[in-house]
Amino acid sequence: MIDLSSYNITKIRDLLFQGNQKIVIITHRNPDGDAIGSSLALYNLFVQMGHQANVFVPNKIPDFLKWMKNCDKFHISADQQQKTSELIAGASVVFAIDFNDLNRIDPFSEFIRLSKAYKVLIDHHPDPDSLADLIISQTVVSSTAELVYSFIKHLGLSEYMDKDIAECIYAGIMTDTGCFSFNSSRTDTFYTVAELLDYKINKDRIYDLVYDNFSFDRMKLMGYCLDKKMVYLKEFNTAYLSLSQKELKEYNFKIGDSEGFVNLPLSIHGVVLSALFIEKKNMVKISLRSKGKFAVNKIASEYFHGGGHEKASGGESYESLEKTVEKFVNLLSKYRNELMET
Ligand code: 5GP
Ligand code: MN
Repeated sequence: MIDLSSYNITKIRDLLFQGNQKIVIITHRNPDGDAIGSSLALYNLFVQMGHQANVFVPNKIPDFLKWMKNCDKFHISADQQQKTSELIAGASVVFAIDFNDLNRIDPFSEFIRLSKAYKVLIDHHPDPDSLADLIISQTVVSSTAELVYSFIKHLGLSEYMDKDIAECIYAGIMTDTGCFSFNSSRTDTFYTVAELLDYKINKDRIYDLVYDNFSFDRMKLMGYCLDKKMVYLKEFNTAYLSLSQKELKEYNFKIGDSEGFVNLPLSIHGVVLSALFIEKKNMVKISLRSKGKFAVNKIASEYFHGGGHEKASGGESYESLEKTVEKFVNLLSKYRNELMET
């Protein structure tokens, strides 16, 4: 189990044990399984404890995560600006979950910055913003969900754990490790999973709900991507996919439909860098993945206003889709040696 003994948890423990706190839990834009699972685990736990809790996410939640208990309680803050700002302003405790950079919760970063609440950040991305009073951030940990579980235990809150909360945590760990294929070489992760199984979670059902829950349109879009849109640059051990607004419309694109696409090119023998470019209304969203020693977060932060983990990161571009892809391809020669040596 992750050792949290070096953190000063006195204040947060006192607050949580005092009861009746107004707790805001907020996670990042384009939420993934770890963001939603970690946030809902805390939300459900705090509700069990009798606190007034509210969960926020800047934009929509993909359908394949909506089975988690109380997922319908999420405030989609972009649609509820007024309510979000009021609840943040009135909170006594704020939990910032699974992000290291305040601009990942825009347009609410300013409210969090100004909030007088006691702030706790739980995350596993490098270089967290110093936005919180208590920062529990460990990059070696598989997922924020795994940290959340250790946090719950370390604070002595295990009596409030139940099967639903264990499922949320398991979903976070499962998705952030690609079903235990990466970010999961530490034994702690498996001890945590073993304890979660003791809550009688049905891990096979969770797999099914997350990975076998896509629409027919999404499967066809994936086929189209692989057949018509994948560009393989053998000389750089790189492959990428790009999708325009027009193409997305043709396949009735819904949020979450491109989940996992960025990993597909990594299945090609020898490919160590993969990218996905999705044209949005006012920007291009970029996802980057790598294998071996090559780190992609430096490319995301230096060139695409983003960041993330060494092997999974993302960013944005305010140029056209074509220009963005061109910029990416032109960058590769700079990294040629690194890309070829892995
Ligand atoms: P994805 O490619 O799945 O959207 O994101 C993968 C990882 O990249 C996320 O877990 C997050 O750490 C990081 N990431 C994605 N987009 C951004 C972004 O716009 N800004 C920052 N700082 N990190 C991002
Ligand atoms: Mn995560």
